[in-house]
Amino acid sequence: MSTSQVTTLTGLSAAELPAAAELAARFPLTSNPAPASDADVDTVMGSLSFGVAFTDHMVRARWTPARGWHEHRTESFGPLTLSPAAAVLHYGQEIFEGLKAYRHADGSVWTFRPGFNAARFNASARRLAMPELPEEDFVASLAALTAVDARWVPSVPGSSLYLRPFMIATEPFLGVRSAHELEYLLIASPVGPYFTHGFQPVSIWVAQDYHRVGPGGMGAAKTGGNYAASLLPQQEAYDKGFEQVCFLDAATGTHLEELGGMNVFVVDADGTVRTPALTGTILEGGTRAAILQLLRDAGRTVREETIELATLLEEIRSGEVAETFACGTAAVITPIGRLAGEGFDVTVADGRPGAVTTELYTTLTDIQYGRREDPHSWMYRLV
Ligand SMILES: *Cc1c(COP(=O)(O)O)cnc(C)c1O
Repeated sequence: MSTSQVTTLTGLSAAELPAAAELAARFPLTSNPAPASDADVDTVMGSLSFGVAFTDHMVRARWTPARGWHEHRTESFGPLTLSPAAAVLHYGQEIFEGLKAYRHADGSVWTFRPGFNAARFNASARRLAMPELPEEDFVASLAALTAVDARWVPSVPGSSLYLRPFMIATEPFLGVRSAHELEYLLIASPVGPYFTHGFQPVSIWVAQDYHRVGPGGMGAAKTGGNYAASLLPQQEAYDKGFEQVCFLDAATGTHLEELGGMNVFVVDADGTVRTPALTGTILEGGTRAAILQLLRDAGRTVREETIELATLLEEIRSGEVAETFACGTAAVITPIGRLAGEGFDVTVADGRPGAVTTELYTTLTDIQYGRREDPHSWMYRLV
């Protein structure tokens, strides 16, 4: 097992966590009295898309300064009762995470590096002046929900149960300060592949007029506000015929940062792999960290550094750059086949998935679905 540090987020590793059955008890269950019928579940499983169907239950806990975290529970999925004055609705004090539960061939259910996501959730919480949730409680919530809603974990290849932990400021107060009442929630959604056309290269529009984050902003936190900033550029790119947007750094507008919800990588023809360094304006992806580790395991040269757009375009045109791809939990690894913006439009690797991209995708998904050894103890058994 390698001990090299490839992430700045040092959460509990799967090997250090108590068993899921033990942790799940931290969020006592009140069963949904009217769960979906087996036929309804079958219908959902028969046509999986991303984030449209939800399981029977959700997990919750409340926080106040006086009591800390309390009222940990698992209950029916359903609408929230929220004051219209709740701070989250006005000032966007919200953070979230995204993980997946994968069904293995023997029927067991596993998740990928939950300690990493727990640590990142708390890093986001600190940036938004919100209370931290103990890492074990974060993992306990995943255990509690997947235990009660295990029948919602799909077994179709490439599918999974998407887990969405989030925290919101519920205090009814219009003054501007960190809220004194917050809530942690976890919901889950059975999902098929993020991009409906599967492992096919996507086209990227490079935004030059918009930025999603700036120096000193919230770029390193997983928070709704960053996504809100990406929606208009995303919509304009879509109208131009592109699937995703890549953002440049706000300070100089010259180097690549990431997509709205995915990190980016460049593979040189000589086999070197590069990704933008974590400068505080990029979200540190768990997929990014895992890819860096897998590449180092394979003995490849990996560099986290500034990637200038102008230089990259030259290198793509000359063939010095052989592949580009994006990565994140939802879409796993997605080849980028075309990169365009004001005044340029280049095709990468003839618009086909590259060899390194394909191999990384296979290795990572094989580990996640239990088809290959897990040398770093990334997988944690939920059910
Ligand atoms: C969630 C997210 C990613 C990907 O992170 P993973 O842990 O790999 O899912 C990348 N960029 C942004 C902005 C994100 O919100």
